Amino acid sequence: MSKKTKASWAEPYKIKMVELLKMPTISQRKKMIIEAGYNTFLLKSKDVYIDLLTDSGTSAMSDRQWAGLMLGDEAYAGSENYYNLEKSVKKYYGYKYIIPTHQGRGAENILSKILIKKGDIIPGNMYFTTTRLHQELAGGTFIDVIIDEAHDSKSLHPFKGNIDLKKVEALISKYGKDKIPYICVATTVNMAGGQPISLENLKQLRTLTKKNNIKIILDMTRIAENAYFIKLREKGYSKKSIASIVKEICDQTDGATMSAKKDALVNIGGFLAINDKELFEEASNLVVVYEGLHTYGGLAGRDMEAMAIGIQESVSDNHINARIGQVLYLGEKLKEAGIPIVEPIGGHGIFLDAKRFLPHIKQDHYPAQTLAAEIYIDSGVRTMERGIVSAGRNSKTGKNYYPELELVRLTIPRRVYTQAHMDVVAESIIKVYKRKEKIKGLKMTYEPKYLRFFQAKFEKL
Ligand SMILES: *Cc1c(COP(=O)(O)O)cnc(C)c1O
Repeated sequence: MSKKTKASWAEPYKIKMVELLKMPTISQRKKMIIEAGYNTFLLKSKDVYIDLLTDSGTSAMSDRQWAGLMLGDEAYAGSENYYNLEKSVKKYYGYKYIIPTHQGRGAENILSKILIKKGDIIPGNMYFTTTRLHQELAGGTFIDVIIDEAHDSKSLHPFKGNIDLKKVEALISKYGKDKIPYICVATTVNMAGGQPISLENLKQLRTLTKKNNIKIILDMTRIAENAYFIKLREKGYSKKSIASIVKEICDQTDGATMSAKKDALVNIGGFLAINDKELFEEASNLVVVYEGLHTYGGLAGRDMEAMAIGIQESVSDNHINARIGQVLYLGEKLKEAGIPIVEPIGGHGIFLDAKRFLPHIKQDHYPAQTLAAEIYIDSGVRTMERGIVSAGRNSKTGKNYYPELELVRLTIPRRVYTQAHMDVVAESIIKVYKRKEKIKGLKMTYEPKYLRFFQAKFEKL
């Protein structure tokens, strides 16, 4: 997607403070990965050099956000910062009502509890770990309605996050519209490799759901990145601002859950946004049980202020050009070296295709988990698994899910690393690729019941 003729991007900021990196030696790394049970989530941060585990809560805040922290109004009720956050959400996203939560899953919990009844079906464009779990805990069943291309790491479809409307129609005729409270639409689908949904597709879904009285709830965690791809790839949007595209996406929906730890450039925070007053009142009541009063929802006043400012910064064209420019830079480097990655390159990171990288390792021996561990051993770069370990088990049958995509995610934190860091990352992966035949798989030695990828432990076969 990055045309060679396009002008170079540069970071639209300069550096005011630095954090020194840790540089563990090879013998330390070999010891640490065994201690961590070959699970990069169990490594200590002090043993990591370049940390691409996640883009969640790892953004660098701006001087304005840090200044905002000093304006924290830590009143239990009616904090000034809550009203600033509300203003920001209304202005940039257009939703009528908002409830802050400690992070995205707090909003998912409340949303699932107010909208899902036992036996309900919740279609979505590919599952996300915490989202699906909250839907299931509320008695619902998630069903994937993403287009088939999303499951093919080689398909170059420009909008692999699109929803297959035929799949939605089939669900409506099979279960009845009353069994489908809402469709969960994610912007840049995390589990598909950061792939966007088009506005055309979203508008078609809107027409279909309106006819059937079904809501659309957005998982708007990476909405600014999705807007960038719409501007780049969708007809009629090249001259529109990221901010206006973001607003247009929100306008097609009835509400949203947000993990502000991603696009909104804060280290902690999230919210539930909704346009329906009655639902808002129900949610305001429930948030008191799980998060805190509806004007702080588990956050300090200062955190809400940083979020209000981060939302504004996140929809700037300059910011998003450089953010995705850096991801593309790393992806192109890997592609040039023949490394199998998910294409087109997505918004928040690069996804290595572990099935093609390590074809001799069976999915039951965790190729992506293995590869993430090998990259750490090679260079101290921390990545994570998005494959059979993340997919978990079906909660009813207890059987493992076998996802098509067996990926290692290199997630790029926002405004944190430089292009030189991306060079180091690419070199390490190329080095591991050269010795791929010698790499052996893993066996699981400890499996937690929920979201096992966070805490599972492994041994070398
Ligand atoms: C991170 C994330 C969530 C959950 O948010 P948390 O802030 O981690 O609780 C939900 N959906 C998507 C797509 C995410 O990436």
